[in-house]
Formats: sequence, C-alpha cells, structure tokens
Amino acid sequence: MAIIPRVDGKRAYKQVKNASAGPWDVIVIGTGIGGMSCAAALAKKGRRVLMLERHYLPGGFTHMFSRKGFEWDVGVHAMGEMGPGELPARILAWLTGDTVEMVPLGDPFDRFRFHDTEEFGLPDSKAAYVAMLEARFPDEVPRIRRYIRLVDRVCALSKLFFLLKSLPRWTDRMVNGALHLVSTNWWRRTTGEVFDELGIQGKLRTVLSLHWGYYGSVPSESSFPIHALTHSHFWNGAFYPAHGARVFADGLLGTVLRAGGEVLCQAEVGGLLMEGERAVGVTLTDGTTFRAPIVISAAGAKTTVGRIVPESARRSAWGQAILAIPDSPPYICLNLGFEGELEPGDAASANLWLFNTWDSEQKLWDPANSPEPPHILYVSFPSLKNPYHEPGATHRQTGECVTFVPWDLFEQWKDSRRLDRPEAYQSLKAEIEARMLAELRRRLPALMEKLVFCELSSPLTAQHFTNASHGAIYGLQASPQRFTCDHLRSRTPIPGFYLTGVDMASLGVVGGMVSGMLTAASIDPRLYLKLI
Ligand SMILES: Cc1cc2nc3c(=O)[nH]c(=O)nc-3n(C[C@H](O)[C@H](O)[C@H](O)COP(=O)(O)OP(=O)(O)OC[C@H]3O[C@@H](n4cnc5c(N)ncnc54)[C@H](O)[C@@H]3O)c2cc1C
Repeated sequence: MAIIPRVDGKRAYKQVKNASAGPWDVIVIGTGIGGMSCAAALAKKGRRVLMLERHYLPGGFTHMFSRKGFEWDVGVHAMGEMGPGELPARILAWLTGDTVEMVPLGDPFDRFRFHDTEEFGLPDSKAAYVAMLEARFPDEVPRIRRYIRLVDRVCALSKLFFLLKSLPRWTDRMVNGALHLVSTNWWRRTTGEVFDELGIQGKLRTVLSLHWGYYGSVPSESSFPIHALTHSHFWNGAFYPAHGARVFADGLLGTVLRAGGEVLCQAEVGGLLMEGERAVGVTLTDGTTFRAPIVISAAGAKTTVGRIVPESARRSAWGQAILAIPDSPPYICLNLGFEGELEPGDAASANLWLFNTWDSEQKLWDPANSPEPPHILYVSFPSLKNPYHEPGATHRQTGECVTFVPWDLFEQWKDSRRLDRPEAYQSLKAEIEARMLAELRRRLPALMEKLVFCELSSPLTAQHFTNASHGAIYGLQASPQRFTCDHLRSRTPIPGFYLTGVDMASLGVVGGMVSGMLTAASIDPRLYLKLI
C-alpha cells in the first residue's frame, strides 16, 4: 500500500488531468531527492515549479510503502553529515522549512559481523574510528595514519570538484587542468590502487573498505575519492529521519507547493519539446505537453539520455559518454515484519552487516550459479530507528535485508509486467527468498523466531518503480570512468535543459540533495551562498 506524502494535511500531488494552468518557470522531471531538492531550492527563490513523476507516488527512492500494517523505506537507512551545524543538515533544514528531524543511529551506527564471529563497529566519531583501527591493528599504525591523512586531503579537494560540476564545462576543464598540473588527479585512481601504494593488504584492507556497500563498488572498481568521502560522510555517525523517509517528500514538496508549484504523478516524460536547438518544455508519453523556459531532468542520467532527449543528443559525444558508464549493482531486498518483543542485540537502531567472507572484492551473490549463501547481507531495522514508531500490543517492528545480485539473472523478464511476471521468475524469487531466510535464521536465530511477514523485491521492482537502469541501487557505478566523465554536470549541450540527481554529482540521499542544490545554483547563482 502506498504511503502518501502530504502537505498541510492534503495529498502533495495531483493527476495530470487535474493540472493547473501555467505558466511554469521550471519543469523538473522526477521526484527523487535530487529533483525535490532542486525544485525546493528554486521555489525558495520564487520560481513556480512543475514536477512530473512517472510513478503513482512522489519521492523516488525516498518513498515508503506498507503491507499488513508494517511500513518500510526503500532507499534510506543511514545518512551522514546530519549533526548540528554540518552543511548538509543546514541545507536540508532550509529546504524543508526545518520540518525534518534527523535521529542518530547510535554508537556504533554500523556493525560488521564476520562468519568467524569477529565484529567491527563503526563509531560515531573520527577519533574513535582511528583509535579502533589502531587498537585492532597495532602493527599497522603508521600505515593507518598515512591513510587517514590522505583521506582528509582528498576529501578537502573534492568539494571544489563537485562545485565545478555546476559551472560551464570550460571552467571545469581550466580549473581541473591547472589543479592536476600540481596535484594528483585522485578521481582516476581506484581505491585498490591506493591501498596497494600504501601497502595496505589483508584484513586491514577489508576493514578499511567495509563501507563499500554504501556506494556499491568494490576497491578494484571504485574511484578513491568516493571511498574517502564515504568515510568522511560518516565521521560524525549516521542518522535516520524521524517518522521515516516520507518526511523528505512532505517537507520538500511543501516548499514547492507553497511557492505556487505543483506535482503531477503518473506523468511519464517521453521527450523534450524543442524550439530549434532549445528545450522549451516536455511531452508526456500520453502526448500531453507542458512548457517552461527551463527543464531539469532528475530522472537518472541514463534514463535522461536513453528516453528523454532527442535522438541527435543521444548520439552526440555527450549522450554516448553517459550511456557508456556502467551501472552500480542491482539489488534484492527482503522486507521483514516481526511481532513479539525483540531482544536487544541483533535488532537495534544500528545497521548490521553479515559477512561470510574477508574478500573485499566479492560484490555479487549469484544464487543461480552458486550453492553458497549470500556473502554479504545488510540488515537494517527502520522501526527501531524511528523514535515515534508505535509497536502496538503485538510489538510490531520492521527489518530490511539487502544484497547485490547480477542483472543477467533477471534480464529475461525485464519486459514482463509487475504482478503478472512468469512462473520461472516467481520460482527464482521464491528460491532466493528461502536461501536468504535460511542464512538469516542461521546468523540471527532468536530474532528470526519473531518473523511474521516477508516479501522480496527484485531488480525488476526497482526498475519498475524508478526507471533505474538495470535495477541499479545507486545510479551510475562509482568508478574512475564515471567521475572523470566531464559530461556529467548540471548543464547539458541542449540550451534550457539541465541534469540533476545522484548521477550528476555525488551519491546517496545527501549526494542527491547537494546535486539538486548545485543544479539550482547553476540557474540561480544566489543559491551558491547556501552551499558554503
Ligand atoms: C535499497 C536501497 C538502500 C539505500 N540506502 C541508502 C542509505 O542508507 N543512505 C543513502 O544516503 N542512500 C541510500 N540509497 C541511495 C539513495 O536512496 C538514492 O541514490 C537516491 O535517493 C537517488 O535519488 P535521485 O533523486 O537521484 O533518484 P531517484 O530517487 O531514482 O529519483 C528519480 C525519479 O525519477 C522518476 N522518473 C524516471 N524516469 C522518469 C520519466 N521519464 N518521467 C517522469 N519521472 C521519471 C523515477 O520514477 C524516480 O521517482 C539506497 C538506495 C536503495 C535502492
């Protein structure tokens, strides 16, 4: 069942047939965190924004749903930089009119439990993290200190890197060109190469890369700065939105609506309306048109190039460079419902990562070709993170369990319809579900006795609801190819047409929100003041 975003007690969105007459200053395609943040920022500066969403609900990966009285988020489990005074926290408060309360997940906020029962917790301060590493690896202290110094240096340089993505391409080329004459272009290096250069091997290498699941690329694949930035993102711990991720749509769309904007759902954009070389609006797949002098796509870079822009742009160097970037991995998610008092321990506000391997290069679990259980299960308990959750007389709590799988397993059914997929797909899902549950029962026996509900989503589910390319969990792969592609920026070669969302700049909910702000600042430079 849908959980409906509301503004001032009313549904935050309408159907296309009820759309108000324009004129619109800006059209935003897609209502994920990127689109909503961009629209809210422009609304704050007086723009009337029309938001168009293909799903029947706004929110993208921040939307929530319920089954039999249990509620889950889709794509929000842990967000960093939400402590008092941190820049992303200030931006979120400004964009939502301070309506979102972020709750710390505790210390540690992430627990990584290995098959041989060794456990590492990620603490909620950088000093405690470094102390933990030095205590667990006393012979490696000099290497750890060199590594942390490098992480700090690379993170400091990265701020400029993302800012340049909102400026014209020539500025980016000039500034980055000059910068890379005097310093290394870290975006070209993989995390694995940096580990090798620093002589980081064995268990230390695995422990320093424990958080790769938050950006979806193993060390041999990931661009080192994104790995470094994920460390710094969580230096002060992780947070979760009180009441669940629905509050992002409530708050951000509230800002858009109060400035005269509108949100239309089941409004799939199928193309741009062009006058000469310029974008002047959009055409929906049902033929309806809307006009505005500025059009922004927050629908994902590959979806934008593959389904929205004219053929000439798709075939241009810009379009081809974007389409050539691989996706982040597809994922499956078991949504779990528990009843009965959960013993503290396994189930907590902190996330639990169950590893069956010390090999930090093992990315995908291939249930069709491997008899092994999943090598990683990420288990999160949304209701235990939410201080306002009411468990009721039966002590209801929710869990989510995620792992990465190959797209090839599901590709054959990509054109089938949701709720009407063939028997073979259903039986693969049933097998995957049974094997994930068996592994959860083996690792968390007491907790799993309280399980009363479960439902598996596949990469086809993600593709169905968000148009995610190949059911990708985090958009484009976080690799050197992605971050050295200077076509990925707010401005596109089509005048009047912009890009935003996680593919434009950085990943995750905070990455998407900042990308939204950067694109909005490309259009209204006064917004740069909010980014410092
Ligand atoms: C299982 C999972 C767990 C995650 N956990 C975390 C986490 O703990 N912390 C974190 O920071 N991040 C997490 N993420 C990542 C994060 O949620 C997403 O990367 C981010 O929300 C994406 O935002 P976006 O706005 O770029 O894209 P999306 O949320 O994908 O929004 C794009 C929107 O565009 C719409 N659209 C597409 N095509 C069209 C079209 N033609 N016309 C109209 N609309 C269209 C889609 O329906 C969608 O609503 C997680 C993601 C997943 C899937």
